[in-house]
Amino acid sequence: MRILITGGAGFIGSAVVRRLMEYTSAYVANIDKLTYSGNIDSLACVSSSERYQLHQIDICDAAALDRVFSTFNPTHVMHLAAESHVDRSIDGPAEFIQTNIVGTYTLLEAARRYWHGLNPEDKDLFRFHHISTDEVYGDLGGTEGLFTESTSYAPSSPYSASKASSDHLVRAWQRTYGLPTLITNCSNNYGPYHFPEKLIPHMILNALAGKPLPVYGDGAQIRDWLYVEDHARALVEVATNGAVGETYNIGGHNEKRNLEVVETICSLLEELAPEKPEGVVHYCDLITFVKDRPGHDARYAIDATKIERELGWVPMENFESGMRKTVQWYLKNRSWWQRVLSGDYQLGRLGDKP
Ligand code: NAD
Repeated sequence: MRILITGGAGFIGSAVVRRLMEYTSAYVANIDKLTYSGNIDSLACVSSSERYQLHQIDICDAAALDRVFSTFNPTHVMHLAAESHVDRSIDGPAEFIQTNIVGTYTLLEAARRYWHGLNPEDKDLFRFHHISTDEVYGDLGGTEGLFTESTSYAPSSPYSASKASSDHLVRAWQRTYGLPTLITNCSNNYGPYHFPEKLIPHMILNALAGKPLPVYGDGAQIRDWLYVEDHARALVEVATNGAVGETYNIGGHNEKRNLEVVETICSLLEELAPEKPEGVVHYCDLITFVKDRPGHDARYAIDATKIERELGWVPMENFESGMRKTVQWYLKNRSWWQRVLSGDYQLGRLGDKP
């Protein structure tokens, strides 16, 4: 396999690259613009392998994409590059429209040009896997019901609307041009190498620094949490064994209220990091409630029956085991997140590595 991955320096993309390098013999070309959320420190363990190459490229740059397609000759594309933070999409939606919609369109066209020129056998084997989110389905509300692959799209934020648009483009390129595509929609991920602006790492690092733990509204919003390495395993399974034209929902069967997530972090830290910052008696005393995010969805939850039934994938971590691993990872890997917090992770970026 020769896998062209986009966004491979991000949180989930880097987990996919590490997995491909460790568990398969695939060659991997990583196309990543290295925005603020791309971090090559997360790929230190694979960067010197002769099976891995990094191209610092914007997915909106068609000529640069064409060059990588024609020199790397991928058998698979796994498309993860995106602007991914909902709060940033509310403050500045333009980048989300550009990368998530225009970028996906540009990548689809580059893939189509390349695919068109393949011999019939390689054309048949080629796959374009688009990685998306359960947020495209909007708000489930209440506590009943789950998102299935046939749930109607009803995105609420600029982020989820841009991802929904990209899903529609991918589906249309399959129907109209026959490009062999697959789509996955996944619930909230957590785990090692998660950028500190996201809920779980933000809370861990704030708690360790004795800073307030800001919870939106009353913290009653429900998310279905999936350990990132379970997601990476599902993605490789879908890219290599999924049926063309299909969508697979991926979720962890771990519905938790945001407040419950923060309380779990606090009690794990009580156990794993008992020496607290000055003035902190209990980590949970740091919890503070702040004004809710506009358009905040009340509940997301995934029905992952299809991927379990058709591809035999099930998550290996439950919320308790995955959260324990995550908190332990942040405690053991301080230099990784200290370089993110100081901005040093953006120094000395490599550019193209041949
Ligand atoms: P992330 O923000 O950590 O990583 C995104 C990566 O894309 C970064 O390395 C960034 O440098 C790169 N990138 C951004 N714009 C680019 C551009 N124009 N050209 C090339 N590269 C660019 O995101 P993530 O959390 O790893 O999410 C990856 C994908 O999975 C996204 O498509 C996201 O929508 C989807 N997803 C995420 C979650 C989650 O919980 N994090 C859940 C479901 C689906």
